Amino acid sequence: MIETLVPYRHPMPQDAASDIVIHDVVPVDEKLWVPQADGVSFRPLCLCASRGYWVNLLRVRRSGFLSRHRHPQPVHGYVIKGSWRYLEHDWIATEGSYVYEPPGETHTLVVDPDVKEMITMFQVNGAMIYVDPDGQVQAYEDVFTKIEMCRRHYLSVGFGESFVNQFIR
Ligand code: FE
Repeated sequence: MIETLVPYRHPMPQDAASDIVIHDVVPVDEKLWVPQADGVSFRPLCLCASRGYWVNLLRVRRSGFLSRHRHPQPVHGYVIKGSWRYLEHDWIATEGSYVYEPPGETHTLVVDPDVKEMITMFQVNGAMIYVDPDGQVQAYEDVFTKIEMCRRHYLSVGFGESFVNQFIR
């Protein structure tokens, strides 16, 4: 018996955004990685300006202190390569781990010296608020600052100003 596969017969809602499909999630082309700091870069997957969140890979190729930050909204993480930890917790996010970071968390991200490279997919809602050990705000990132970083980087590597648009919804 041959199964008949039946697609949905109607158009998608007029106001629905288009889908995003990325096959090279961990890209070989170095230019797709947006430099963030010394030894730190990110690869955008979905920059959701309309809902105020972003999905990206964070890649770290140095060890030690990365950042201390507060999350006003939840974060979901999936470790693709290497490992990392937060000074405030006794667990280590190892390759293959899923991490849920609840709203209200403030934590200090470190990568241990034996880790040559870590790559983690994060879905970050709202903002990253960078703070000192007393919680004093030093800087922030949101989907709009991420978009701007991408736009500038992709322009500088010759991909053009509109290259980032494929990730924005
Ligand atoms: Fe975090």
